[in-house]
Amino acid sequence: MRKKLITGNWKMNTTSLTSKDLLTGLVSGLSDEILEKIEVVVCPPFTSLAAAGEIIKNKKIRIGAQNIHQKNEGAFTGEISAPMIKSLNCNYVILGHSERRQYFGETNHLINAKVKNALKNNIKPILCVGETLDERENNVHKKIVDEQVTLCLKDLTKDDMKNVIIAYEPVWAIGTGKTATPEQANDMHIAIREALENLFGKEAAESTRILYGGSMNDKNASELLAKPDIDGGLIGGASLKVESFINIIESAIK
Ligand code: PEP
Repeated sequence: MRKKLITGNWKMNTTSLTSKDLLTGLVSGLSDEILEKIEVVVCPPFTSLAAAGEIIKNKKIRIGAQNIHQKNEGAFTGEISAPMIKSLNCNYVILGHSERRQYFGETNHLINAKVKNALKNNIKPILCVGETLDERENNVHKKIVDEQVTLCLKDLTKDDMKNVIIAYEPVWAIGTGKTATPEQANDMHIAIREALENLFGKEAAESTRILYGGSMNDKNASELLAKPDIDGGLIGGASLKVESFINIIESAIK
């Protein structure tokens, strides 16, 4: 049985002040009963992680970062490492987001190094994969996503997979208001699970959570989350509003 996971990706939004308000709103709006049923992780910008770590102390909400460097320390001006976020109560990290791939040139090879480093530091990677519109129209979407999964998870063991979360995020659906239909998304989740089975065996594939991301909101969440292979959501825009994010979390409860 895979516990549903709802993750908020705040991207480059919120200041130290507004992120405190947003997180405090979530903490007070989410009962322990809800958080027993659904795992909730929010990923604020690095600059808000320390304050967020304090706010969620002794709470059931968890926090994550949106990126890390592949090395633990060194002369890498401006970068943030896994031990740095770990010291702030932060046990998750989004890796391989399409915006990192597109605007910062992150390759599957680099993302693989980051995934391995996160695991080495006991941080759970939320690995994002997904095809562009062009790739879908050329009918290579399954091949592309299979390649991303295979290369980004290279050298991992099935034991490592207990701490890995995958997010299927079609690039054409991120921040565009266009969502994959529940059928399209579920179909891709099945393909990803098959790729995982080839790499790590059936048990690991069956127990890995695969989230959907791409314009998920409180109107379309229930239909998407009702699909058997969709184990939660990675939410951008709609995670910046307390009410819509809580509505999405509630719609994950069957
Ligand atoms: C994301 O950034 O991971 C995302 C899914 O964004 P949005 O929900 O805004 O499409």
